[in-house]
Amino acid sequence: MNKALPFSKAEIERIIEKYPTPFHIYDEKAIRDNARKLLAAFAWAPGFKEFFAVKAAPNPYLVKILQEEGFGADCSSLAELVLAEKAGLTGENIIFSSNNTPANEYIKAKELGAIINLDDISHIEYLDRYAGMPELISFRYNPGPLRGGNAIIGLPQEAKYGFTRKQLIEGYGMAKDMGAKRFGLHTMVVSNELDPYSYIATAEMLFDLVTEIYQTTGIRMEFVNFGGGIGIPYRPEEKRVDLNLLSREIKKAYEEKIVKQGLAPLRITMELGRMITGPFGFLVSTVLHKKEIYKNYVGLDACMANLMRPALYGAYHHITVLGKEDWPLDHVYDVTGSLCENNDKFAIDRNLPEIEPGDILVIHDAGAHGHAMGFNYNGKLRSAELLLRPDGEVKLIRRAETLDDYFATVDFCGFNL
Ligand SMILES: *Cc1c(COP(=O)(O)O)cnc(C)c1O
Repeated sequence: MNKALPFSKAEIERIIEKYPTPFHIYDEKAIRDNARKLLAAFAWAPGFKEFFAVKAAPNPYLVKILQEEGFGADCSSLAELVLAEKAGLTGENIIFSSNNTPANEYIKAKELGAIINLDDISHIEYLDRYAGMPELISFRYNPGPLRGGNAIIGLPQEAKYGFTRKQLIEGYGMAKDMGAKRFGLHTMVVSNELDPYSYIATAEMLFDLVTEIYQTTGIRMEFVNFGGGIGIPYRPEEKRVDLNLLSREIKKAYEEKIVKQGLAPLRITMELGRMITGPFGFLVSTVLHKKEIYKNYVGLDACMANLMRPALYGAYHHITVLGKEDWPLDHVYDVTGSLCENNDKFAIDRNLPEIEPGDILVIHDAGAHGHAMGFNYNGKLRSAELLLRPDGEVKLIRRAETLDDYFATVDFCGFNL
């Protein structure tokens, strides 16, 4: 089964003449279309907002494109806050959903007027002391033992995130006493989840909790935030989450659990990352070598420093050999990078067409948690990011690192001491 590509082999060859592999390339038109689909699906929801999880693809050009489509930004560090600011996002278009947070980051978030989403009850006092209690405050809920659980995020009771139920009830009262006047409720209990019903269950759980908090404290929530975690079909046989079904079921629950309780309007917000840019980014790499020992290997000019998910989670990423889309998949390869780490593999025992050095490989679904997770181990330099514009033009949105970048933090004059 093939996965679609927004470019031909000839187009990629032309791009490579200017920008050598490896690089990530993002499809702007597809990102915009997908953003519009999400907003259209939730058009019924009062004040619906998606805060793009910046960590998934922290490139200001991508965040700017999403800002133009009406998205906000979900940040969890100082750098991500500054990035959102540089992309033109202001005030409550930013949510700061961090954990184990240093004071200077709260101060920056408060200066920006961002929505601050606290991860722990002890941070109420900490935030008040260092940055001052804002008018609008949100808390992250950890429901503890739930049915299910999820491979990347794990079981809630084993996860470091969030408040317990009891702490939530107590926490809203504390924040109110410190001057908070508007309140939000957040959770994130799934990651890369393709079953829409787990996200729907999250919505139902938060709606119930909104009622419970109102009944026990008299505090009315202004918004709920279901977090990120909607998955994408990494495998060609998997299907995208049906946004219309998701929306319809959440609407049903909203009417039943919020409208009927007299708690409407309640804003519905999300902080999706993966499903916003993931399928629309590609890692493009050239085959350097073939090696035949106990197994057959093809070695790329990219490595796990460009895309860590296969090595980190054993994640599947589909691979297309450009120009050989219709060839029989009659060879079995491990597709490797060049790190001195045996888990530096993009694929293990993958059925592929016969590959030769010089072939161009496209690794799919690298648009989220791809370039973002890059690192410099073994002296590997981070690769460039390109944007494929709707008119077919290609724009460099982050240049590749150079050796000077790599050594920029070392002062070689210190050798003279
Ligand atoms: C990672 C993360 C997200 C985004 O998750 P995706 O799987 O990319 O949708 C959203 N919110 C928080 C708090 C996160 O840690």
